[in-house]
Amino acid sequence: LLAEEEREDWFISRFEKYGAVVLKGHFVGASGVHFDCYIDKDLINSDPVFVEELANFLVLVNNDRWMNQIDLVIAPASGAILFGGFIAYHLSCNFAFTKKLDGQEVLRPSFRKLVRKDCRILIAEDIMNRAKSVREVAAEVQRINPSAKIVGAAVIWDRGGVELPFPTRAVVSKRLPFWEAKNCDLCRRKIKINPELGHGREFLEQFSLNPSYWPANKK
Ligand SMILES: [Zn+2]
Repeated sequence: LLAEEEREDWFISRFEKYGAVVLKGHFVGASGVHFDCYIDKDLINSDPVFVEELANFLVLVNNDRWMNQIDLVIAPASGAILFGGFIAYHLSCNFAFTKKLDGQEVLRPSFRKLVRKDCRILIAEDIMNRAKSVREVAAEVQRINPSAKIVGAAVIWDRGGVELPFPTRAVVSKRLPFWEAKNCDLCRRKIKINPELGHGREFLEQFSLNPSYWPANKK
């Protein structure tokens, strides 16, 4: 196996080959954070062979006690479903995904039945900034069965590097900057927000096209 840094660079170059997977601009993420560099998960997901390779790699390099004996992999919908499914395939365990309901990640009834007493759960995520979705999935597991144990998170790209109460393993851990909307440097510089990728359109609908009305520019 390659050294950790070399292998990160190798995967990043693979992402780049998928055509503008890493773009420069001004973007809004699902959790409301802003960033100048966007990773297009749809382009990654459009090639299941590549997603399977990412999942297989992550399981292989973490084939220690930590990732052993997983009973269930849960992915927040929708970007991590394919990746999570392949992780579960390589761990030969069950797989479920949540859906967003009233701002919470919830499991449907058939999936809820898989959260059994003392079961060991791995959360799969695609691109992680503040780990908002991962935390919501963990909260849903606790609501269903407090005896279930979240043993970790398996992530394609952990760009935020936030601390969680369980270990995170990522294919790529390179940190990329992001800002809260009210402190966004790009907003202050009135850089045009991309409405096509991420949640830029919703932000512009809420705060107007005029940068003077964006939270970072309000007095
Ligand atoms: Zn901004």
